[in-house]
Amino acid sequence: MPMPLAELHWDHRYRRDLPGDPEPAVFSRQVLGAGWSAVAPTPVAAPRLLAWSPEVASLLGIAPDHDPDALAAVLAGNTVLPAMAPFATAYAGHQFGHFAGQLGDGRAISLGEVLTPAGERYELQLKGAGRTPYSRGADGRAVLRSSLREFLCSEAMHHLGVPTTRALSLVGTGDAVVRDLLYSGDPRPEPGAVVCRVAPSFLRFGHFELFAWRQDAANLTRLADHALARHFPELGPPGPAAYGAMLLAIAKRTARLMADWMRVGFVHGVMNTDNLSVLGLTIDYGPYGWLEAYDPGWTPNTTDAQHRRYRYGQQPAVAHWNLARLAEALYPIIQDEAPLHAALDAYAATFADVWTSAAAARLGVLADDGLSEGLDARLRATETDMVIAFRLLSDLGSEDRSDAAWLAALAPAFYATPSADERAAWVAWLRSWAARLRQEGRPDPERQAAMRRVNPRYVLRNWMAQQAIDAAEAGDLTELHRLHDVLRRPYDDQPAHDARYFQRRPDWARHKPGCSMLSCSS
Ligand code: AMP
Ligand code: MG
Repeated sequence: MPMPLAELHWDHRYRRDLPGDPEPAVFSRQVLGAGWSAVAPTPVAAPRLLAWSPEVASLLGIAPDHDPDALAAVLAGNTVLPAMAPFATAYAGHQFGHFAGQLGDGRAISLGEVLTPAGERYELQLKGAGRTPYSRGADGRAVLRSSLREFLCSEAMHHLGVPTTRALSLVGTGDAVVRDLLYSGDPRPEPGAVVCRVAPSFLRFGHFELFAWRQDAANLTRLADHALARHFPELGPPGPAAYGAMLLAIAKRTARLMADWMRVGFVHGVMNTDNLSVLGLTIDYGPYGWLEAYDPGWTPNTTDAQHRRYRYGQQPAVAHWNLARLAEALYPIIQDEAPLHAALDAYAATFADVWTSAAAARLGVLADDGLSEGLDARLRATETDMVIAFRLLSDLGSEDRSDAAWLAALAPAFYATPSADERAAWVAWLRSWAARLRQEGRPDPERQAAMRRVNPRYVLRNWMAQQAIDAAEAGDLTELHRLHDVLRRPYDDQPAHDARYFQRRPDWARHKPGCSMLSCSS
């Protein structure tokens, strides 16, 4: 039976399993010997519910019929219900390749864990809820633009079938937050917001790195035991063998996540080890973006523009590097290199495996045999929208046609008219693909339907999110809600929405901040 938020059953296991910080005052500091600090959200001026995910509410068993003001007060952190036990966790991490020491939840405050009627356990976390001991001089807040992006994208990812943290709500705070959008020395006040994120847990690689760095084997063991019991109970009782098996399981989940990101064209933008989930979930939506013109070297993150460490094509390799950091962090409690190497190798093997099948599935073929590589070359040579191109292929019949007809079929995906040589190369590739389809003999309707299940039609391009942001900042939530709704069914044809959402990036968005480039300033 769904019930009001106030009546949910709360149980705070993370707080039980790991020692808490004895210091009750909230000021930036190194927190030693503890996994978390008790900290209440800092109230905001005028909480207002801007968006709500009924799917996440029903996952939690929350009834929809609520007093919106009371609900917004809880989801902004102004009202802390008696059964909640707010806290921020301590973690470390490698940022852009360098160990950064203690980081922690600097602006995310967990309200605790909810036990759902279905017997599942979810942590609810308010992002932008105010300062914690891990805020390191920053304000603990989040702006509406980045919160709206996190809300929409985590729900969009879920509906794409990509593992992700979820978002229950987006609440406007009524407070201004000052940010320098492009780090150009022009700070300005922006509307603030709080997202309520939901996940089985928000455990990151960095949680393990913190205790390993501090040489705190007791807490490293406690954390590993907690993670095992909570997320990998099938791996048996705690001990070095189970820790090794857990790393292996994390490696495999991460490999599947990377294949999913690559398939839908998602670029995370800040794959620091503190932003990788041990559950293999997409976590921490910041300066992310979706590939439009196909370019493996593309990153949406201006902060990373120089080295492009977190570019699209590099993501699987970065995940491997991050897993190596996690393996090092677990070494003190495993004391054997073999399972660590085995996990890293399994990552590579699993990724290769999953990606090879995904590549074939995206083309609707049983055996890829170089077709993907051929298409990759075409996509690199002609400025082409990847998501649109794959979706157009999904709709095509396998019969042969004239050169002009082949090219016309893909024309909506081209940003620039291909040269004569490129046109010929495209036609040659399309013919070889169609010939393969005919040779494999799967009926077109069945093959097309299968392709449409792996090649999304609607993804949250930055310029779409930006339109919802511009409108929301002006007080109009229509675009936010319409996008939220369309992205619920990203693989379905929704003809009424094609003119708006199934199209190449418009010219106006090419160089507009928020559309073509994003900073970490959020
Ligand atoms: P991110 O790049 O968003 O993953 O954040 C990296 C670290 O900076 C984490 O420890 C965050 O909690 C912290 N952080 C980011 N923004 C803020 C903020 N506005 N206030 C406090 N801490 C922040
Ligand atoms: Mg982060």
